[in-house]
Amino acid sequence: MTMLMRLIYFSRHRLDQRYDDRERAVAEILAVAVANNQRDGITGALLYDDRWFAQVLEGDEGAVSATFERILRDPRHRDVSLVTMEGVSARRYADFAMACVGRSQDNGDLFRHYGEDDRFDPRQIRRDRLSDLIDAVVRRGPTGGPTGEQTWTTKNATSAA
Ligand code: FAD
Repeated sequence: MTMLMRLIYFSRHRLDQRYDDRERAVAEILAVAVANNQRDGITGALLYDDRWFAQVLEGDEGAVSATFERILRDPRHRDVSLVTMEGVSARRYADFAMACVGRSQDNGDLFRHYGEDDRFDPRQIRRDRLSDLIDAVVRRGPTGGPTGEQTWTTKNATSAA
């Protein structure tokens, strides 16, 4: 019997700091992630701001490990730090091949609240707070204010189970 795992990591992204390029680069990452994750039965969420990624991957142990190994080698980020990999009884993001939300005016309060600082720095956040932040941001969803960064989520087109 395979075990359902949840892995959380954060990393420093190496995307161009110009807004348009960053949005385009995240969209490219997401397109491949969603296709692969649907194939591999992975669900999860990806959070980003102007410096950091934080991501949750859920699925069978082997699929999560294989995905994370590919992610580790990806030159579009660096300093990948594993926060937790643990067995869980249920998926938290069952509807999402990969929900993806950027920091914006609409969720900046959540980054400040869970990060306990204006400048989001996942190295300083307790692991359970990082997990709660990702949850809270995804739950608020893709709102995207007039000057906020574009945010979106991707609904899983197939059954995640
Ligand atoms: P290939 O497509 O064969 O690419 C070969 C190498 O080039 C890989 O190291 C790849 O990472 C790198 N690469 C690919 N495209 C680019 C590019 N545009 N610029 C620079 N280098 C590139 N993949 C998933 O399957 N599921 C996920 O949930 C997922 N989440 C990700 C989250 C983040 C923050 C990042 C940065 C990447 C994520 N990826 C995810 C993508 C993953 O890293 C791999 O690129 C992807 O899985 C394809 O792997 P591959 O071995 O088939 O690489």
